[in-house]
Amino acid sequence: MMEEPAVEVTFRESVDRMVDRALEVMDLQPDVAAAIKACNAVLQVKFPVKIRGKVEVITGWRAVHSTHRLPAKGGIRYAPVVNQDEIEALAALMTYKCAIVDVPFGGSKGGLLIDPSKYERDEMELITRRFTLELVRKDFLSPATNVPAPDMGTGQREMAWMADTYKHLNPDDINYSACVTGKPVEHGGIHGRTEATGRGVQYALQELFRHPDAVKEAKLSGGLGGKTVVIQGFGNVGYHASKFLSEEDGCKVIAVTDSKGILVNDEGLDIEAVYHYKVENRKLDGFPGGRYEAGSTTRALEMDCDILIPAALEGQINLGNVDRVKANIIIEAANGPVTFAADERLNERGVVIIPDAYANAGGVVVSYFEWIRNLSHIRFGRMQRRFDELRGQHQIDALENLTGKTVPDKFKHKINAGASELDLVRSGLDDSMRQAFQEMRETRDKHPGVTYRIAAYINAIRKISRSYLDIGVY
Ligand code: GLU
Repeated sequence: MMEEPAVEVTFRESVDRMVDRALEVMDLQPDVAAAIKACNAVLQVKFPVKIRGKVEVITGWRAVHSTHRLPAKGGIRYAPVVNQDEIEALAALMTYKCAIVDVPFGGSKGGLLIDPSKYERDEMELITRRFTLELVRKDFLSPATNVPAPDMGTGQREMAWMADTYKHLNPDDINYSACVTGKPVEHGGIHGRTEATGRGVQYALQELFRHPDAVKEAKLSGGLGGKTVVIQGFGNVGYHASKFLSEEDGCKVIAVTDSKGILVNDEGLDIEAVYHYKVENRKLDGFPGGRYEAGSTTRALEMDCDILIPAALEGQINLGNVDRVKANIIIEAANGPVTFAADERLNERGVVIIPDAYANAGGVVVSYFEWIRNLSHIRFGRMQRRFDELRGQHQIDALENLTGKTVPDKFKHKINAGASELDLVRSGLDDSMRQAFQEMRETRDKHPGVTYRIAAYINAIRKISRSYLDIGVY
């Protein structure tokens, strides 16, 4: 029998097929599997806003993929190209993502069909507050049931407007600030949330490189230091991942992209300098410390490198370019950057792919911490920081007293420093990423031949199915 030629499917279908691959190796009742895969609810809204004297009708969605745990969690993106299929796919990814990193939430996602670059600040505020009103009125936003966060085209500013709108509509909800995460620190946000997804990518790679056999599987050797990295996208995630990997792990980031081209430096880019240039000039073109190649940014995906980090849109590695991808490791900082068909090809070639639902989970992990902080109404570390410092000082005093020697300053600080909120957030995120990676490895040991992606989905489905199997269906 002739093998069917590979074809591309929609994003949602692509996620479902990847999940089906995991279900093939699991012994799960088909009805439970169907319940897990189904998208629970989708809200579509069309609302009018008056912009520059004219009424514009704006379309938005919020999909809730699963409610086996509440609240349902996931970002809201503002983009000129967004549709219901994409939002449902992204909501499903959130369900699996939360389960993979043990964040006790269901999965949700929202989108607004607008080009944010076309609007002034006040107009964005108007649109965001109006969208929030729609979501709250239709029961698609509250600290207990559905908690948005930033995604493409949104950030702290939008989250602050959303939280404020919710507060005005629900003044007696004492937990109002937990209705969204990713807020500015001055308005109930948590330290370390902005860089969390990029940090998570770094922690995931650090963990992979702690396992020599995982490095060998990727046909590499040694540690992260000196590895060449290409990043597609230089938004929040791409910037932070490239910054941490180059500054802290000694990676050589040889290329980053913006929407108009690729910035290359074979010796490694100075990421902080690139970032400042971009903020000042709103482009990468002309940056003095690299060569800018205008044109398609997908060429970056085909560059020779050890580690490729797609940190832009979905579907970037597809049947059209997959055979030209040369990286040893692809770590999916974006959601869905590799299509199902391309994923199959890369697997056949033995390219190691660290899947999105794990690799970019850092954002939602720290969102979880922020949500807890908001519900507990206290900053992490506030009660014990000085106490820990004092106890450390007592230990130093005792040590010096017993030995008659002075503890050198470089050790002193490590012993008597109390953890700040940022220290605790980093520690919690690092732990979550390490734990989930190890769980993927255990699953791969149990099911030889499965990829990290399938292992991640097996773990997610196993955890989610417990809700259905133990509690039943209401
Ligand atoms: N938008 C991010 C994601 O895709 C963050 C979601 C969240 O923090 O709820 O994972």
